[in-house]
Amino acid sequence: MMAAQIIDGKQVAADMRAELKQEVAKLKEKDIVPGLGVILVGEDPASNSYVTAKERACEDIGIYSDDNRLDASISQEQLILLVERMNNDPKINGILVQLPLPKGLNESEVLLTIDPNKDVDGFHPTNVGKMVVGEKAFLPCTPHGIIQLLMRSGVKIEGANVVIVGRSNIVGKPLANMLIQKNDKGNATVTVCHTRTKDLTWHTKNADIVVAAAGRPNTVTADMVKDGVVVIDVGVNRVEDATKKRGYRLVGDVDFESVSQKASLITPVPGGVGPMTITMLLYNTVESAKRANGLI
Ligand code: NAP
Repeated sequence: MMAAQIIDGKQVAADMRAELKQEVAKLKEKDIVPGLGVILVGEDPASNSYVTAKERACEDIGIYSDDNRLDASISQEQLILLVERMNNDPKINGILVQLPLPKGLNESEVLLTIDPNKDVDGFHPTNVGKMVVGEKAFLPCTPHGIIQLLMRSGVKIEGANVVIVGRSNIVGKPLANMLIQKNDKGNATVTVCHTRTKDLTWHTKNADIVVAAAGRPNTVTADMVKDGVVVIDVGVNRVEDATKKRGYRLVGDVDFESVSQKASLITPVPGGVGPMTITMLLYNTVESAKRANGLI
C-alpha cells in the first residue's frame, strides 16, 4: 500500500500570503492600506501567542494592525466603546476580538457590536446568515482555510461524500454549510457527525473526504476509513510527552501513523490546517479593504 501524500499547510499558507502581499502592494499604489483592529483581553497564554502570530503575519504582508492588549479588569462598557471606535475608524477594515474573553464579559454582546462589514472572523449572525443563503459574506477562517487546502491540493469537492466529525459553530457547522453551497467551493454531499451519532465508522467508511474536528486524539483510526480517502485533521490536542522540553506534544484528532497508510492525502498536525486559519483572516481583511474602497 502506498503511504499518503502530505498536504503541506505551511506551504499552501505561504503561497496564499505571497499572493496577498502582492495585492496589498497594489492597493498601496492607490493609497489604500488594509487595517486590522485587534483586541486581546487578559493574559491567557494561548490567546496571547495567537494574537502575536496574527500581528506578525499582518506586518509581514503589509497590513496595518491596531493592537489593543487590555487588562482583564476592563468593563463591558469600555470594551463595547472600543469596538464602536473601531467600527467608525476608516483605517480599520477588520476587527478581531480574540476569544475566549475573561469571565464576567459578555462575549456574544461584544461580537454583535462588531460592524458586519468589518467582521473578518465571519462570526456575526448577519454574515453567518448570508453564508447560509449563499450571498457574499466573510467566510469563517478555519472552514474556509480547509476548503482552500482541498482546492489547492487538487481535490475534487463537487460530488464528493464528505464526513465532518464535529458540529461546532466555528468549524463543523460553517464548513458543512459552505460545502453544500451550489458554487465552486461546494456541491459536496455532506454528513455531520457528533457525539450522538450512532455508528461513526459506518459514515466515515463511505467518505471520500473526512474532516476531523472533534478535539480528541484518535477519533479517526485506520479501520474507520476507506483506501484512498482524503483526510483533513483540524484537531489540536496536547498529549503528555516527557521527551519534550515543555512536557507535551501536539497531536490532531486522527491517528496519523495508521491513517496515512490508507489515505491518498492527509494533513499533519501541526503544519496542516493551523497555518491556514490566520491566512484566511488576512485574506478577509484585504477583501474588506477592497470592498470599503469600491474595488469589488
Ligand atoms: P468543540 O466546540 O469542542 O466541538 C467538538 C465537536 O466534536 C462537538 O460537536 C462534539 O460533539 C464532537 N465530538 C467530540 N468527540 C467526538 C466523538 N468521539 N465522536 C464524534 N463527535 C465528537 O471543538 P471546535 O472548537 O470545533 O474544535 C475542534 C478541534 O479543532 C479542537 O481540537 C480545536 O483545538 C481545533 N481547532 C483548530 C483550529 C485551527 O486553526 N487549527 C481552529 C479551530 C479549532 P457534540 O456536539 O455532540 O458535543
